[in-house]
Amino acid sequence: MHYSSVKSAVLSGLRVVKINVEADINTKSVAQDWEIVGLGDTSVKESRKRVMSAIKNSGFGIPHGRITINLAPGDVKKEGALLDLPIAIAILMAAGKINSDGKWFLIGELGLDGSVRKINGALPIMLEKDDSATAVVPMDNQMELSLVNMPNTYAVDSLVDAVKLIEGEKFPPIEKAILRERRTYDVDFSEVHGQEVAKRALEIAAAGFHNVLMKGPPGSGKTMLARRLPTIMPPMSEKEIIESTKIYSAAGMLDGSPITQRPFRSPHHSASTASIVGGGAKAKPGEVTLAHNGVLFMDEMPEFKRDVLEALRQPLEDGVVTVSRVKESHTYPARFLLIGAQNPCMCGWYGVEDGVHHCTCSISEIIRYNKKISGPIADRMDIFVNVPHVDYDQYASMKDAEPSKKILERVMNAVEIQFKRSGKQNGKLTAKEVKRFCALGDAEEAFFKAAAKKLGLSGRTMEKTLKVARTIADLAGEEKISTAHLAEALQYRKKEEIFV
Ligand SMILES: [Zn+2]
Repeated sequence: MHYSSVKSAVLSGLRVVKINVEADINTKSVAQDWEIVGLGDTSVKESRKRVMSAIKNSGFGIPHGRITINLAPGDVKKEGALLDLPIAIAILMAAGKINSDGKWFLIGELGLDGSVRKINGALPIMLEKDDSATAVVPMDNQMELSLVNMPNTYAVDSLVDAVKLIEGEKFPPIEKAILRERRTYDVDFSEVHGQEVAKRALEIAAAGFHNVLMKGPPGSGKTMLARRLPTIMPPMSEKEIIESTKIYSAAGMLDGSPITQRPFRSPHHSASTASIVGGGAKAKPGEVTLAHNGVLFMDEMPEFKRDVLEALRQPLEDGVVTVSRVKESHTYPARFLLIGAQNPCMCGWYGVEDGVHHCTCSISEIIRYNKKISGPIADRMDIFVNVPHVDYDQYASMKDAEPSKKILERVMNAVEIQFKRSGKQNGKLTAKEVKRFCALGDAEEAFFKAAAKKLGLSGRTMEKTLKVARTIADLAGEEKISTAHLAEALQYRKKEEIFV
């Protein structure tokens, strides 16, 4: 027999495409030659050299004749080096150098020396493997794969071992690891002195999954505060760990271990739309997807490009982002907590009276700057909070700050209450659910009505205020939303005035 076939798969975005790798050897051909057909890109074409060297350097000898490798289906573009291992095995089988009747599923890049190397996207691919086949994967992908139960799956670090395994030698199967979140952050809220209002706002944000916009002059601690937000967010669930690990695996950003801490992404304001939402030549996931299950921090938010801010609408609304390419479109998960930060004006010092800094902006410049965060994006921010300049006297009189662990305890209690009541955090409630779960008593209703009229609140703002008030009540462990909870929530609304 001079024909063989094994199974493999490639990623298109985050979508898994199953591939049949077929090898045919024409032994009658005098010329020793081979080709790969079936829409492989450059990295697949380069596979030829790697596979040839790996076979030779593993001591198997290059089969004689004309070798044809077919990657089916032929109409799907195949990217990446992960087809090296299945191609090499298919060739060795067709050449009669391996004896096996089993069904094999293989992924792995080959080194010229015959080593099997780590690939990108192992977890998403293996989650969709056909269970009837025995799988062979790179040893260096073992840790990410141990997140889930992988029956019939074996890890190897060389082509020689892959051949031994296929010929029946016993290898230990990949065992499922016990999932534990790594809660060792190198930052902590105990390091942030002062800024009690902003810290309170972030505690509410973490408890209820509410987006926040912080406004304050340079050096007031906005970035410092945002960076510490993941330390007070609930631990990731097993489902979230798998989702995030799949994303980082596909993006080639996994250092071997699974993602067990909530991601914190802080793209620079000069970032392109493609790098934020995803796309480009290889349909890579963007920052909004890398931030899935975690925090997307946009410092200097008004400085981001108009279309970047516009592109945030879909993920903020639907928790997913759709990236269109020439022939196809990809949908990626993108549910993140958005934390924006901005200066009060372009120069940064509007409203600061410390005798040293002075705002040099005109009133119209200040208005124009602040208008950049308006409309649909402002609509999606639930909490607006000022982070004022701290002067020396205030700084010197500050007490020791509360550690993240203490804040997290309150957050966790509030999260538990929310899940028992509605199955989700308050920030994710739909308009209909807000009516049901954020209902007010008569006195509270009267207070809220009067406030809404006096302040001229829009329907959108009223809904956000109710959600935030619900979280404030949950943090206090109270079943009913009180006027005090409503009053605090109203403090976090977007104020039309430009002054801080
Ligand atoms: Zn200014």
